[in-house]
Amino acid sequence: MPWRVIQFLFLLVLGAITGYQLSTSSFTGACAGLFLVAIGWSIFQQYKLNRLLKWLHRGEFSLRPTRVGDLELVVDKVIRLHRRQQQLNQQSLQRLNDFLSAIQASPNGVLLLDDQLRIEWCNQTAAHHLGIDMQRDVLQLIGNLVRDPLFSQYLKDQNTSEELVIQARDSRPESPRKISLQLFPYGEGRRLLLSRDITQIEQAEVMRRDFVANVSHEIRTPLTVLAGFIETLLTLPVTEVERNGYLELMSQQSNRMQTLVNDLLTLSKLEGSPVPSKTEWTPVMVLWQQCEQEARSLSALLYPEHAQSISFLMDDSVKEIEIAGSRNELLSAMTNLVSNAVRYTPEEGSIAVKFVLKTGDGIEFSVEDSGPGIAPEHIPRLTERFYRVDRSRSRESGGTGLGLAIVKHVAQRHDSKFSISSQLGKGSCFSLKIPAERLRANVI
Ligand code: ADP
Repeated sequence: MPWRVIQFLFLLVLGAITGYQLSTSSFTGACAGLFLVAIGWSIFQQYKLNRLLKWLHRGEFSLRPTRVGDLELVVDKVIRLHRRQQQLNQQSLQRLNDFLSAIQASPNGVLLLDDQLRIEWCNQTAAHHLGIDMQRDVLQLIGNLVRDPLFSQYLKDQNTSEELVIQARDSRPESPRKISLQLFPYGEGRRLLLSRDITQIEQAEVMRRDFVANVSHEIRTPLTVLAGFIETLLTLPVTEVERNGYLELMSQQSNRMQTLVNDLLTLSKLEGSPVPSKTEWTPVMVLWQQCEQEARSLSALLYPEHAQSISFLMDDSVKEIEIAGSRNELLSAMTNLVSNAVRYTPEEGSIAVKFVLKTGDGIEFSVEDSGPGIAPEHIPRLTERFYRVDRSRSRESGGTGLGLAIVKHVAQRHDSKFSISSQLGKGSCFSLKIPAERLRANVI
């Protein structure tokens, strides 16, 4: 800058001398020269300043202005500041985008409302829950879009301490869906609306209630019978024969309760315990022998007069195989299938139990019977707890309604596939396919 002052002073002196000489050494000529140089200098400075201001005004900081002389220094400074600002903007934008992506990824719906309850922004989940199209519905009143009367009342009451449960937009009588909504105040009169799909929670709650009701019902029936017999034995004079008959019936009822409690405990263990390790090995032959013993003794007990024809077929190559998993669980699943076949197949019917090698694809344990068969509409529900097709037959033969639920869990815990095929009036086939990864034997 001092250099600029020297330059200016030099020009002034030069102007004064030139004026002095041109005016034949008059003082006025020197003053005129001085004046002209000062005017010229100011015009030149103004010109550079104008160019700089125009450049600043255009805001195209990537193109440097030309002919701004010593104002280049200012240009450099402005460009540096602009770049720094751009970086900061970029960082803020990135943070905002990250933040919005995180809200978008949320399984819960998030909707921002202004002080008039108009939609400012919402994530995709909220849009899906409430049927909002962000292109179309931005700044629309939320009350005009969600027409549920409960929601309108909720907006009116502004009771932010409680959540509201409404039917989801895509709820159908055959597949009901529920959404929970809650408003939270923030900023200056603004509202945050959170939405949550609670269909599964509601279903789990319904299942829990049904389960408790079913268990109570299953236990109450034998308990009532037992209580009746105890009352009779305590209050009425009975003969020895009658007494023995009552005790026999009481023993049957208590056995029924015991079986139910055992099955419930098995199920709760299956649902709550870690998946069986792959280090415990159970020889197929052990499972096989146990199933055969169970089938024959149950069949003899149920049909002492006309025995069922029960065949056991096993590929020779399967005999040496061992299965990785819990022996008790596998035994429980297989004997459940075998005992069902015996219980539901009438006397003189036939049952075929097979263990076959599916080359490269593991082994298959199957139980086929010539029983009553099952109508197709029941098949998908058979593994539900307490689901029975023939209630009285199930109870008469000591069923708890939990057997196939146990089989399904055991199959899942052993990476196995459980399949049911049946034809009404012809018979059924239940099979468990155990994958090759869970088997070990020299032949595989
Ligand atoms: P349960 O203890 O009642 O037998 P399960 O869960 O083992 O309970 O079976 C559920 C229902 O599936 C049974 O109540 C019965 O109606 C039907 N079911 C099971 N196995 C057979 C079969 N082999 N033949 C016909 N129906 C069967």
